[in-house]
Order: sequence, then C-alpha cells, then structure tokens
Amino acid sequence: MIEVNDLKVYYYSYRGVVKAVDGVSFQLREGRSLGIAGESGCGKSTTAMALMRLIEPPGKIVNGSIKIDDADILQLDEKTLRKEIRWKKISMVFQGAMNSLTPVYTVFQHFVETAKAHGYQAGKEELREKAIELLKKVGLKEDVLYRYPHELSGGQKQRVVIALALLLNPKYLIADEPTTALDVVVQAQILNELKKLQESGISVILITHDLGVLSELSDDVMVMYAGKVVEYGPIEKVLGNPLHPYTKLLLDATPKLRGGELKWIPGSPPNLIDPPRGCRFGPRCPYRFDKCDTEPELIEVEHNHWVACHLYR
Ligand code: SF4
Ligand code: MG
Repeated sequence: MIEVNDLKVYYYSYRGVVKAVDGVSFQLREGRSLGIAGESGCGKSTTAMALMRLIEPPGKIVNGSIKIDDADILQLDEKTLRKEIRWKKISMVFQGAMNSLTPVYTVFQHFVETAKAHGYQAGKEELREKAIELLKKVGLKEDVLYRYPHELSGGQKQRVVIALALLLNPKYLIADEPTTALDVVVQAQILNELKKLQESGISVILITHDLGVLSELSDDVMVMYAGKVVEYGPIEKVLGNPLHPYTKLLLDATPKLRGGELKWIPGSPPNLIDPPRGCRFGPRCPYRFDKCDTEPELIEVEHNHWVACHLYR
C-alpha cells in the first residue's frame, strides 16, 4: 500500500515560492490502480517525482509523509532508497522517456545501463534472458533487443521504456503520460499492455490529462487542480457522478466518440506563486459564491468519494 499524507512540494524560484503540490493526501490500496488527472501544471508529475523521491533543487519536499508498504521514504537515506525502493519497489516511466532513449545504444545496451544504474546483479546472458522475457511481457519480439531507437516505432519505443522500468520487478509502476505522444491505435495498444501488467499484479499509477485514457485503466481516480486534490474516489463514482465543478468541466472537455458539444474550460490555471485566496478554482468556477473565499477542505461526500468544494457539506 502507498500512503501519502499532506505532501507539499515547493519550488524556490527568483520570483517566489511555487507551491506545485500543496497538501496532497491519498492512498493506493494493494491490487488497485490509481489515475491522477488534471491540466498540465496541476502537480501530477511533481507528485509522482516525490513518490520516487526524485525532486531536485530548486524543488523541495517541505512537508508530509510518503509510505510505500512499510517504508517511510522521506526518512530513508539516499543509499537505502537506491538499494531497496527505487526501481525495486516502485518504478517509473517518465514523461517523454521514449524520446530520450540513447540513439547510439541498442535496446540491449539500455538494459545493461539500467541494470548498472539500479544495481541489478546478473551476468550478460542472464540479463539477456531477463530482457527478452520483459520485452515479451510488453508485446515485443526478441529481435527488438538488437535494434537502435531510430529503428523502432513510437509504440515500440514506449514498450521498451516500460520493459526497462520493470527490470527489477517493481510492485508499483508510475506511468507519466505514457500515451500522449502516440496515435490513437497505438495508445490503445499501450493501455492494453498496462492493463495486462496490472492483471499480473503490478499496481499502476497512471498520470494523464486525458480522462478517457484513465477510464480504461484505473480503479481509483484523483483529480488535481493547482497543486491540490479536488476530487478523489473510485472511477465509477468520480466519472459517473462527478461532483466538483472542475471535474465536470474537465469531463465536458474530453472528446467523446459521438454526440455532445465539445467544451473547454474558460480561463487558465492560477499562478502558483500567488494562488487565489480561498478555492483555487474560484476564478474559473461558474458556481462560485461568498463562501468560496475560504479554502474548501476535502470531505467524504458519499462512501469513499471525496470532494473539496463548498457546494457539498
Ligand atoms: Fe466553485 Fe466554490 Fe466549489 Fe471552488 S468551492 S469549486 S469556487 S463552488
Ligand atoms: Mg507532467
């Protein structure tokens, strides 16, 4: 189980303190998968980087706790983290990773480098076998091992990146916008591979701005806005009965196969150096009223369905 409590990640810039993640709490129960949704800049990727404890200066985790199974990862030293947690317990497919494969390395060399970086002890032959097994797991054939990135399609590269993330048999896998750069058919294939991984017992944390993608894969969903969680719960509740005005608008802005006019959300997310007083969605919210000048807390409106909005009390 992953348990995040009151996580705050701030970036210290010349212009001021950017409160990128500002009091985020959630749980990922064993065997469930979580989707984190929201517009770019809402803190999704920063939350994920914090789970890996990969926040780098000028960013800093300034508050909160992150427990992964029994380990309180904000208390561990870097060495233990490398040895026991990162890539072994929780691994990540970084946003855009498929485009940063090293052009002069074959896929196998990428496995060799990943093994080195994360202390995977194996001889060359053993590593080769493991790599082939992982490639198969994500729907690729053995011969991909000897190819260079430029010889692979976008979908193949994304599969390779996922296979690399699985090298040390993690229990949790974070995938940050894994389908964003791909065309729809390939998107569906990648989602399918992630679904299979999930069925094999890996808990996937999927980060996306696309609620459609999320609905394919996730058991639970957390909608973020301007560094905060605005709605959280099982997917059928959050997407079936969205309560927060932002979630509703986000759903209206999700292309559907047929019917319905495509809407967009007027305005833009706030400046996180100086966020609006009270509800951060206030300036864009069609339902705003007096009370919204104070910050809404996340409350459980129905069983397991949490919303941060004064419309619900
Ligand atoms: Fe809108 Fe107020 Fe709810 Fe914020 S708290 S989403 S401003 S109604
Ligand atoms: Mg991102």
